[in-house]
Amino acid sequence: MSDVPVADELGGFRAEVQRFLVSALPPELAARTKAGHTLSRDELMFWHRTLHGRGWVAPGWPTEHGGAGWSILQRHIYDEEAARAGAPSIIPMALTIVGPLLIAHGTDAQRTKYLPRILDGSEIWCQAWSEPEAGSDLASLRCHAERIGDEYVVNGTKIWTTFAQWADRCMLLARTATGDRQQFGITILLIDMKDPGVSIRPLPSLDGMHVLNQVYFDNVRVLVSDRVGPEDEGWGLLKSTVGHERILNADVGRARALLDRLIRTVQANPGAQPGLRSRVARAAIRLRSLEVLVMRALDSPDPANASGASIIKLLGTELQQEASWLMSEALGLYGLPYLPDVMQNGWQNEIPIGPDDAATVTPFYLFWRKASISAGTSEIMRNLIAQQVLGR
Ligand SMILES: Cc1cc2nc3c(=O)[nH]c(=O)nc-3n(C[C@H](O)[C@H](O)[C@H](O)COP(=O)(O)OP(=O)(O)OC[C@H]3O[C@@H](n4cnc5c(N)ncnc54)[C@H](O)[C@@H]3O)c2cc1C
Repeated sequence: MSDVPVADELGGFRAEVQRFLVSALPPELAARTKAGHTLSRDELMFWHRTLHGRGWVAPGWPTEHGGAGWSILQRHIYDEEAARAGAPSIIPMALTIVGPLLIAHGTDAQRTKYLPRILDGSEIWCQAWSEPEAGSDLASLRCHAERIGDEYVVNGTKIWTTFAQWADRCMLLARTATGDRQQFGITILLIDMKDPGVSIRPLPSLDGMHVLNQVYFDNVRVLVSDRVGPEDEGWGLLKSTVGHERILNADVGRARALLDRLIRTVQANPGAQPGLRSRVARAAIRLRSLEVLVMRALDSPDPANASGASIIKLLGTELQQEASWLMSEALGLYGLPYLPDVMQNGWQNEIPIGPDDAATVTPFYLFWRKASISAGTSEIMRNLIAQQVLGR
């Protein structure tokens, strides 16, 4: 559905991506991704390593740091073809947040130590920023790090930490001082999640899955050499990282895959509710607008700081939520069963209820309620748009 016109010379690149996807993506994995099944750690890391083997796992990183160094149009083409083929998304934190942060603000020693392991997938990272009383108001965070000699000793808790249960390392925001401005006194530390002082409490989400966690830090020791940037001044380094995360959360590739699936479902149900087709068409038009906004932001000299990042995040998450709701409507009663086991493993010995992918629809709808909260809530995005774009 979404063939954005590209320059002729990029046709060869598109064909190269298509050939790679045909040869490297196992059909069973593509089918599971397309049906919306929850993929295991092994499946996600298999695809990470496959992309790494081709040199494509970090499309936005410069080539001197092991990235693909793709242009904006090449990234768009890859996303489009990957979504169409059913390639899984990969675990994003290290590649889109930690890596760019270290490339921009890390030491040579940090880049040498961490970037290769991020690229080859030998270390999974999580992002420990939010706290029980510091979410939208992140600068009020209290998890504390005290410097003792050449180490920091960390105490406190973080919440909603995605994939902490799998993570080898985390990027932590810690309070090292207090001052007149809340933003002062925040320090970025790279933590080894195997430290005996780290413990994790799973937080099952509305769809029944375990992705989120509360993480406790009890006298966790971190070498000063694992601090990124100056002590107390981590906040200033986060600005571009947060912008990256917002653009990432729009997840245009996934939104496109979801809309393609929705269109197939509506086409297979000619008796679907009157008016549904025009709402699907409106969602497809909004997706086109979003694609253009994302490309424009990524093409700007400093994508993450572009004021469009908040608009992209807001529109992207609203679109994903709308599409997941339309999918439920399109399937009618067949979409109602709540079968998280089938979401993970597909139908086993049961007779499928309705179309093959119907069982994943309700958990998927529930899962996407989170999109307007994570990486900054929709209310906060509207505040930012009012301040930064409308100048109010
Ligand atoms: C699925 C998921 C994954 C996440 N993953 C991570 C992760 O990996 N690492 C991490 O650190 N964090 C993660 N988070 C946390 C996320 O960043 C926070 O949930 C988010 O920033 C909101 O903070 P909060 O939950 O404390 O809500 P609050 O900030 O307490 O907000 C509560 C409500 O008040 C509204 N509100 C707050 N302030 C204002 C205001 N000034 N104006 C108008 N309305 C306002 C909000 O919009 C919201 O509706 C994740 C969250 C989710 C849901």
